Amino acid sequence: MKQIIFLNPVFKQMVWGGDRLGRDWPYEIPGSNTGECWAVSAHPNGDCRIREGQYAGETLSALWEKHPELFGKTGLDRFPLLVKIIDAKTDLSIQVHPDDAYAKVHENGSLGKTECWYVLDCEEDSSLVIGHNAKDKKELSDMIREGRWSELIREIPVHRGDFIQIDPGTVHAIKGGLMIMEMQQNSDITYRVYDYDRMVDGKPRTLHIEKSIDVITVPAKQVEDSIMEAADLPVNTMNLLCECAFYKVWKLEVKEAVTITQDHPFLIMSVIEGEGTVDGQAVRKGDHFILPYGYGEVMLQGNMKLIASTI
Ligand code: ZN
Repeated sequence: MKQIIFLNPVFKQMVWGGDRLGRDWPYEIPGSNTGECWAVSAHPNGDCRIREGQYAGETLSALWEKHPELFGKTGLDRFPLLVKIIDAKTDLSIQVHPDDAYAKVHENGSLGKTECWYVLDCEEDSSLVIGHNAKDKKELSDMIREGRWSELIREIPVHRGDFIQIDPGTVHAIKGGLMIMEMQQNSDITYRVYDYDRMVDGKPRTLHIEKSIDVITVPAKQVEDSIMEAADLPVNTMNLLCECAFYKVWKLEVKEAVTITQDHPFLIMSVIEGEGTVDGQAVRKGDHFILPYGYGEVMLQGNMKLIASTI
């Protein structure tokens, strides 16, 4: 039997969050500083529940454990991906993630984190922090220890529809005014490099200077290798945005009936604009679902944009 697994997102209030997930998206949010929608997550800090059908009410982590056949029996010990929508009303702290090897040794066997961003919406003059300007480890370490942030931090202009891969070791930060869809390894290990000297509840948030210097890649990847324009790709076809060791991500813009084949262990799909149907079932902006293993051909119709991902 072909079944589509729809998920109910989990929302996170953040000091930098806003209310656009409740205004521009069809969600009931917990407050006016809702920074994150964990759309597809089996992480213990926000485990999505199945919305309907025979598994209604189950968590994604429980489904992963009890029904590995739905996910292609990968043998992995946890659901490997995490998909979020981020509403940054103000700047997020500047951070870097370790890779798997570093996290295993320094973070009790945790996974490292590779992530990527699709810019859902932003102002005309928006930018992101991606990379840095230090030419070697010594200069990096000096700039960080001496607080020479404006010299160190590399800000890059971004536009709606840009796609950015953030490899471990990449200094990065989401700036205020951006709505972003984030696909990432299911991990939470983040080292904070700099927090703009802000106070939260009267004190600065913890920085992780030594670990950051350890893991930051020097020199940073070139600007032109960091951003891909993905706003206007061919319609009615799966456009591959990224393929790395941890995930594959596509963008699909549906204008007429499109049939694709789900022949991956599983395929996550998120509707980011418009509405339509998936094998006859109505979907709209803000819906997130998983096509399980062996699903085969699926027909999408309507006028909508989707981001799809798998391992
Ligand atoms: Zn990050």
